[in-house]
Amino acid sequence: MSVAQPPTAQSVAETVAISAEHVSMTFQAQGRQTVALADVNLDVVPGEFISLLGPSGCGKSTLLRLIGDLLQPTSGTLRVKGKTPERARRDREYGIVFQAPVLYDWRNVTRNVQLPLEIFKVPAAERERRTKDLLALMGLRDFAQSYPWQLSGGMQQRVAIARALSFQPSILLMDEPFGALDEMTRERLNMELLNLWHQTGTTIIFVTHSIPEAVFLSTRVVVMTPRPGKIERIIPIDLPRPRDASTRETPGYFEYITQVRACLREEHVL
Ligand code: ADP
Ligand code: MG
Repeated sequence: MSVAQPPTAQSVAETVAISAEHVSMTFQAQGRQTVALADVNLDVVPGEFISLLGPSGCGKSTLLRLIGDLLQPTSGTLRVKGKTPERARRDREYGIVFQAPVLYDWRNVTRNVQLPLEIFKVPAAERERRTKDLLALMGLRDFAQSYPWQLSGGMQQRVAIARALSFQPSILLMDEPFGALDEMTRERLNMELLNLWHQTGTTIIFVTHSIPEAVFLSTRVVVMTPRPGKIERIIPIDLPRPRDASTRETPGYFEYITQVRACLREEHVL
């Protein structure tokens, strides 16, 4: 008979990728206070795909930046694999992708993807190997020598994702990465992102204000509401995987979309 052991710091770190406990964030600017987040609580299991969904100004980016150690909370505690976000950042646990791909025009695709590896002086042979794998993973092999200005917006964003994965981060933080793309490109990149997630097992935190996108991608959708930003509800999405274009035509998919919309309507966001 096995006796239940109390959890150790190590075992907690293995079962929780990210935890937020009573996290609040108040900005001070021009003598004015903005409560961007109030008492946010969230546990993310390793390998989850979590979407932060809500209208503009509800604190999605703030929460993402707190997790990624780009901001420090006014109060509350964040842990990433049992560590402080600062420690996790130093351990290169994060890859980050923003809405604008921020590529360097004078570097070709290969050299854009390699940039972080160059900065951290990863040996050239290892750099080449990893870059080749990443370009293959993101369907960029034929564009290895192209320059960013020769690529469509969707291709540029793929380069940014490949670059974010260069250190094989355990956590990918994405802030509206497909927000500037047309609907069809966005759907294609949604599929590619799911494939990448299946292949790498990366924990993904994905900010969006698209309800269909959040439902299609996620293991759980975190619905947020503004003034002050808080988590309204967390909705597990139990649609079968792998998900593909046909998922978007199933009754279950529409039911989840309706459920999320109802939640936002109750809060007078819709
Ligand atoms: P979202 O990403 O959901 O649109 P944000 O997290 O960017 O929302 O912002 C949440 C709130 O915090 C907004 O009211 C915004 O104006 C405010 N805010 C965000 N960043 C700052 C900052 N650096 N200084 C002051 N206020 C900020
Ligand atoms: Mg934002």
